[in-house]
Amino acid sequence: MKRHLLTALLVLTMTQVAHADLKGYVLSSAIWNSTTIPVCWENLSDSTSAQRTVVRNAIKQTWETYSGLNFTGWNQCSSSSNGIRIGVKDTGPHTMGLGNNIAGMTNGMVLNATYKNWSKSCQGREDWCSTRIAVHEFGHALGFAHEQNRGDTPAWCLPCSTDADCSSSEYCDNGTCNQGSDGDTYVGSWDTESVMNYCNPSWNGDGELSFTDIETVQRFYGEAKVRLKNVSENQCIYGSSDSLDATHWGCWNDPAFVYKMKSFGKNKVQLVEETTGKCLYINSAGNVGHWECWNDPYMYFAIDKTDDGYQRLRGIETGRCLYTPDGNGGKVKSWACWNDPGFKFDLNY
Ligand SMILES: [Zn+2]
Repeated sequence: MKRHLLTALLVLTMTQVAHADLKGYVLSSAIWNSTTIPVCWENLSDSTSAQRTVVRNAIKQTWETYSGLNFTGWNQCSSSSNGIRIGVKDTGPHTMGLGNNIAGMTNGMVLNATYKNWSKSCQGREDWCSTRIAVHEFGHALGFAHEQNRGDTPAWCLPCSTDADCSSSEYCDNGTCNQGSDGDTYVGSWDTESVMNYCNPSWNGDGELSFTDIETVQRFYGEAKVRLKNVSENQCIYGSSDSLDATHWGCWNDPAFVYKMKSFGKNKVQLVEETTGKCLYINSAGNVGHWECWNDPYMYFAIDKTDDGYQRLRGIETGRCLYTPDGNGGKVKSWACWNDPGFKFDLNY
């Protein structure tokens, strides 16, 4: 009897060790306990306003759009600033840990703006680099480890036999060069497309969240709720229970303006009006309305980024973009997408 108990204890202990040793990509203990996370810059004089806007927009168009997260502040840090504190230095961008382990830490995140010393290949395309780097580093700041640190990383990704096969900041583990802290929780299967994966064929996933990145951030920071606020008209799209129209009105704090953004893949969503549960669509004639949500190709939208931090709502099947003409009570319309300010939406909520 005693021996059985001992065996049981041993098995239990070994299981716990095995779990602790898992190479996940989410460090669940480091998840912030609020979805509102303050951000500040250690020294505004270390970067230009335009350089900071590139970072702000990159985060707004990714982690913030696709989850319940709100990043607030973005001003100069004070000595007591909590949250994410960003130092700007011409060195390799990094975070000093995962998730809330960097809360309130001076230079808890370091970003580059000029690339005169580190990664000179970014010169002449600084914003392009800064966008991709910001999305990756904020992934760390949210508690997400490198995808290639997972134990189920395939043999083709950063293969190694010993540490000597890896770069100086990496170590060889389980046949793969790992870098930085490990997570403890897997979400989905190993994801080539993750912005957290060094083996992504596009560097940092081109700064576009993969389907699994979206699943991950939503699991830990809540579903994406947005208002579809047209920037040039200052109008919000809404649906009502007595009509299947898609109408718009001056934005205010009305629950009818709230849409849930349900993801079905990388840059593929349905826009579900929260109070009616109906889905927005653009049909083959270009007409816009709401209908019961189902697997209809006309109900899927791509959320395309604009250079100035806004987004266009493009019907995937039609290639048409939404706009909101004719003032309060006007019908939402669609037109072939192009670089027109009338198509710009702000998806903040
Ligand atoms: Zn990293």
